[in-house]
Amino acid sequence: MSGPGEFELIRDFFAARFQGSAPEAGVVLGIGDDCALLTPPAGKTLATSVDTLVAGVHFPATADPYRIASRALRVNLSDLAAMNAQPLWFTLALTLPESNADWLAGFAEGLADTAKRFDVQLVGGDTTKGPLAITIQVTGACDRPLRRDGASAGDSVFVSNRLGAAAAALPIVLGEVGGSEIQRQQMDASYYFPEPQFTVASAIGGYASAALDISDGLLADLAHICEASGLGAELDLNQVPVAELAQTMSGDQARTVAVTGGDDYQLCFTVPQQHLPALNVLNLPITCIGTMTRERGIRCTLDGEPWTHAQPGYRHF
Ligand SMILES: [Mg+2]
Repeated sequence: MSGPGEFELIRDFFAARFQGSAPEAGVVLGIGDDCALLTPPAGKTLATSVDTLVAGVHFPATADPYRIASRALRVNLSDLAAMNAQPLWFTLALTLPESNADWLAGFAEGLADTAKRFDVQLVGGDTTKGPLAITIQVTGACDRPLRRDGASAGDSVFVSNRLGAAAAALPIVLGEVGGSEIQRQQMDASYYFPEPQFTVASAIGGYASAALDISDGLLADLAHICEASGLGAELDLNQVPVAELAQTMSGDQARTVAVTGGDDYQLCFTVPQQHLPALNVLNLPITCIGTMTRERGIRCTLDGEPWTHAQPGYRHF
């Protein structure tokens, strides 16, 4: 197995794939020196975020390395989308139990394809020996950042697209159930290729008062907007758009995964009433599901009756 020399090879392996791919993107000096040298776009605010994915916690250790890389970069990019920031650069810290050339080739290919798709540059990294874990730091630029603390009472609460796909996919990801061919494709797309919502974020940028991406589940994440803005919310669960993969469950279960399941990386955001007409004409894939309130806490109704949930939030495995 590996001595330090092998991990230097890994570093070079990534450097070869990513070096010099887009010199126009503010990269004065990329991988290979003590630091990267980067020029921020004039007049923009930088947004930066770091996130670690651990094998056996955030993805199955035996998952396809191409898919692990895709998921790792996409969930980090989702945080940039949630701030309405355009991706610029990222760094990678990779902890590996062993340096397996096939695994690394798959991982690097997944990382390179995803980076190209979202026009983001790898500018530095580090490799260490240990249990498989991936840390990615992303940096982007924004004009109109969407923060969590800007909501006001009376603002409408929206979500993008549909919720519950990743939570519904988890039993298939973990191999607990086989699923049909279509379900396996939906699982693969929702779990390993979640779509950071850059298009929706930039369209709502001028109208939304607060936003975040749904990583831990709608109720858990909306609670962060409530907390940061000093407010509560009322939700009509009949309005929550349920993902197709979750619709194969019973109505109750489907609704529960849609409002409490994590990993969807859709946006949850609030919009002041005066901006609703302008937002409506944009025909975005968004749905109004409730209203921000002065009264703290999140109150849900289903068919006009109060609805309570056992345990909101992310299911660790
Ligand atoms: Mg986030």
